[in-house]
Amino acid sequence: MRETNPFTEPPKKRLGQHFLHDRAVIAKIVQAVDPQPGEHLVEIGPGQGAITFPLLERHGELTVIEFDRDLIAPLTATAAAHGRLQVIHRDVLQVDFTALAAGAAIRLVGNLPYNLSSPILFHALEHAEMVRDMHFMLQKEVVDRMAAGPGSKVYGRLGVMLQAYCEVTPLFDVPPDAFRPPPKVDSAVVRLVPKAAADIGVRAPAMFTSVVRDAFGQRRKTLRNALSKVCDADAIAAAGIDPTLRAEQVPVDGFIALSNALTGQG
Ligand code: SAM
Repeated sequence: MRETNPFTEPPKKRLGQHFLHDRAVIAKIVQAVDPQPGEHLVEIGPGQGAITFPLLERHGELTVIEFDRDLIAPLTATAAAHGRLQVIHRDVLQVDFTALAAGAAIRLVGNLPYNLSSPILFHALEHAEMVRDMHFMLQKEVVDRMAAGPGSKVYGRLGVMLQAYCEVTPLFDVPPDAFRPPPKVDSAVVRLVPKAAADIGVRAPAMFTSVVRDAFGQRRKTLRNALSKVCDADAIAAAGIDPTLRAEQVPVDGFIALSNALTGQG
């Protein structure tokens, strides 16, 4: 007997719903995650289960966080045949990953709603101590920015903030026709691995955030001008950075050294 598809609602644009249907891409994502026994996997935005069910087949259990109420019942009903699925019906930005982890670090996976990708990344960073790694599908342009280094046109605030706290590794690109409906842009899968506390050089997170924001807020200006509200040229030079450089020329470690020095922790 032919099974009827329980997912009857059309994709919702406002929730960034572009459902993956390319089996080769799905298999590559599962392979990249490579779940191991005992690990707690959490998928953000399972949608109609394109990644969920293959992961569940492979791992036996999975937690998913989905905001769209119309998807909750069909996800739950379909999951029964594949494994044990815990469905959290909430906005992912309201989910406390540290509480969800309950003492054993979680692994995050998701083909993210692209309109929310930066807020979700920063939300995950807030709980980085309890996140072992993340595998996310994002706009390729965002992945390029996340992984860019000094000198690149797309090196900026997002890359510096993420690279200070995580290893960022772009894995592979995904074309629009892998999704239904196809998005207007190319996509890419990226792996983020939060650094161990001992490897994070940032001593003053609030100062680091504001230095990076101000430096790239006016990226055409030299550091001495862009940061004039925070410090003078001598303070920048004292941290070992040439104050006549522009932000896009300064490596991540430079911003860390400067923010540490400005708070007397250099
Ligand atoms: N994982 C599915 C796939 O690959 O086909 C769906 C991916 S779709 C790009 C993004 C998913 O995130 C949708 O299912 C959407 O309903 C869900 N979503 C959107 N905003 C959300 C939020 N704030 N919290 C949780 N899920 C959300």
